[in-house]
Amino acid sequence: MWSEVGDRVFVRRYAFYDQNIGAVLGDDGVLVVDTRISHRQADEILADLLGLTALPVRAVVNTHGHNDHAFGNHRFRPAPIWGHDRCATMITETGRDQVARVSAAIPELAADLAEVILDPPDRTFDGDSATLDFDAGGRQVELRYLGRGHTDNDIVVLVPDAKVMFGGDLVEADATPYFGDSYPMEWPATAEALVDLVSGTVVPGHGTVGDRAFAVRQMTEFRAIAELASLVHQGVLAMDDAVLRTPYPAVEARDPLERALAQLRGELD
Ligand SMILES: [Zn+2]
Repeated sequence: MWSEVGDRVFVRRYAFYDQNIGAVLGDDGVLVVDTRISHRQADEILADLLGLTALPVRAVVNTHGHNDHAFGNHRFRPAPIWGHDRCATMITETGRDQVARVSAAIPELAADLAEVILDPPDRTFDGDSATLDFDAGGRQVELRYLGRGHTDNDIVVLVPDAKVMFGGDLVEADATPYFGDSYPMEWPATAEALVDLVSGTVVPGHGTVGDRAFAVRQMTEFRAIAELASLVHQGVLAMDDAVLRTPYPAVEARDPLERALAQLRGELD
């Protein structure tokens, strides 16, 4: 079911990866936020949209270049696809590796992933912001790049007249966020900039839709990871003790801390 989280702004929560897909309705078209992991999953979005509106998809936004947010892109053409410059780079340079990695981890998805035609955003920006008038009755949507965090190319999608923000994976609810491509020492500042932009509803890339308090909690958790990693890096806290002090389940806390330490050692640039 689509749920309306703001005036003509809808979210559908898919069981696979507990992912949120957005649909912003204008007068003569729809903007879709993120496209899921495969053509088949993208087709499911397109079919589900028919239950919401007869309007065509006029534009697509990729919040970042991860497979589950961008590998359905091709099914939305000829709509323009927006994203950060480095989102397009990430898909172009790492797309095949991402397909191989997910196929190995989830063998039952390999056939679907083999069908994917990588189709990176063609409307890109490399500054801090872009305003997207998706030609749908003048409804304005703003795209903001706030710094590195979950990846080096996360953007947030703002629908000011509905007080809704799509935060992508800069905020993830109900599960430990994925740190595999992250910049944990910069993520707290990026999350703080995100919090400053919240005017109402925050739609995370995965999990329950939240509000400003949710975004603040996420920021606090990222700070905890960065601070604990700094203490380990300085030699004043043992890794095993740091693992027990993060906001995450101990079994999942080591990866975020290791990634933060890698950044502190200068290994990520
Ligand atoms: Zn992601």
